[in-house]
Amino acid sequence: MPESLSAKCACGAVTANLTGPFRDAMGCHCETCRRQSGHYVAATQIDADGLQLLTSDRLKWWDASETAKRGFCSECGSLMFWREDGSDRMSVFMGCIDQPTGIKLTTHIFLEEKGDYYDV
Ligand SMILES: [Zn+2]
Ligand SMILES: [Zn+2]
Repeated sequence: MPESLSAKCACGAVTANLTGPFRDAMGCHCETCRRQSGHYVAATQIDADGLQLLTSDRLKWWDASETAKRGFCSECGSLMFWREDGSDRMSVFMGCIDQPTGIKLTTHIFLEEKGDYYDV
């Protein structure tokens, strides 16, 4: 697994460097992830200190729930980050990480909320 990776949104307005160690990716099938992404998401996780934002003028944080915020590009809508309030960990959505990531998707969560149109 790499020591560091780079990330950017679809339009390139939000860019970041990520420092590991990186957790294996988890697929999240919760209703919020599915609605916000259009399907389901996969995310790795790092220490929050490991996120270095390079360009973030367009980064917007949405208070998705009482306990967590979701960071996305307000220009192109790319989902990038998820952070539980007060946590020293930061989830980074796999789709915004430049390849090769060296990270594997190994687990799935919130399967009880998954869409009825696919199987895991
Ligand atoms: Zn963007
Ligand atoms: Zn979710």
